[in-house]
Amino acid sequence: MSDRIPCINPRCRRTAARDKFPDSKEIICGKCFRALPLAFRQEHRHCWREINKWEKRILRAADPLKAQRMRAICNRWDERLNAGWVEMRKAIMQPEKPVGLDSFLEEMRL
Ligand SMILES: [Zn+2]
Repeated sequence: MSDRIPCINPRCRRTAARDKFPDSKEIICGKCFRALPLAFRQEHRHCWREINKWEKRILRAADPLKAQRMRAICNRWDERLNAGWVEMRKAIMQPEKPVGLDSFLEEMRL
């Protein structure tokens, strides 16, 4: 396994250090991320904000039942983040074909 993780844009040669992203198979570099439509970036940041918020709450939760319920919510945000990642990759692979992000967000509405 390489110690560098490639950017999801095959036309981009950038990589990231594996030790910074131990759980990731791929990353998106800052340059490619900024090139994406704003809606993708907002969705991505929004999911991360929610995941971080719930992770913190779970750590602080004294009641294991509550923690379990919060974990389920957090997992849904995680799934939504991953689904968004797939859409971002599609948008990067086929830049000439605009991806219907609106309908995608509609489907994923929590
Ligand atoms: Zn890139």
